[in-house]
Amino acid sequence: MTEPTREHGRFAPTTSGPAHPGTLLAGLLAWLDARSLGARFSLRLEDIDPDRCRPEHAQDMLAALTWFGLDWDTCSQQSEHQPRFEAALDRLAAQGLLYPCACSRSDIQRVGVRAIDGSWRYPGTCRTRALPPGGWRESADALRIRLAPGRSEPRDESGLDLAHDPLVALGDPVLRRRDGAIAYHLAVVVDDAAQGVTRVVRGRDLASCTALHVVLQRELGLATPNYRHHLLLREARGDKLAKLHGAVGWQELRGRYTANEFCGWLAQATGLHDRATPTSPGELLRGFDWKRVRQDDLGVRWTGDAFERLA
Ligand code: GLU
Repeated sequence: MTEPTREHGRFAPTTSGPAHPGTLLAGLLAWLDARSLGARFSLRLEDIDPDRCRPEHAQDMLAALTWFGLDWDTCSQQSEHQPRFEAALDRLAAQGLLYPCACSRSDIQRVGVRAIDGSWRYPGTCRTRALPPGGWRESADALRIRLAPGRSEPRDESGLDLAHDPLVALGDPVLRRRDGAIAYHLAVVVDDAAQGVTRVVRGRDLASCTALHVVLQRELGLATPNYRHHLLLREARGDKLAKLHGAVGWQELRGRYTANEFCGWLAQATGLHDRATPTSPGELLRGFDWKRVRQDDLGVRWTGDAFERLA
């Protein structure tokens, strides 16, 4: 009898808007990676940002992924995991690594140093502040982690160079916002570890965060999964190609394509399949090989009637 694999993959979309072709591609690649290894596959609806996430988007995500032909072994909502995020903050506070920060966005922007992810680098203004005597729960400010200087060198299975010093490249990140919401960087590493995720397959827009995630794992005593960052779909906005977002939602797409037609289109455009004939995630599993998947981002547009590659 063959040993069951201990690998565990996941797809962790933020439920901040309707699912779109980029969502379907990211879900498909994470699913193919896990299922081709015989791994467990979990769907985690990342709904912890109260300003952006809505229950109806979580429902929409489930409907979109089901329509497209993906399945999963477990499904969870990140907002239900608050106790584990608080336990992680307790641990970091006990290590003396958390501090309150009262800087506004414009205070940080005024210093004017760009971070590697395109945001503004936190200059460390509040770094020497202590938590209130009663602990982090008593702080009305945002909470940041005091990062130790040093390069973090995660390995990316596709060969991307992810190494940098997160303190230099990003500055100390917020882990709990002023309004009490847990920040993505903390939630994602805590949840991946708590769920036993061993394979993180996600878009290349998140590659600049991975070195930080590895540092957070180290401080929290958590295992580091294998990482792979894949191509993005991009649309022309102004004279730039931006990460595809609002161009077309899956509901509109579904008026024009069957799930298998769109899967075939995506498969051909990204190198998974030779022809743009209808196919399904299940069919693509046979012979799935990351070597076939296009590395470079793909320019696309929605004409109102069809989804097309940009020349
Ligand atoms: N929730 C993030 C997003 O939708 C992805 C998180 C991750 O894969 O690490 O962009």
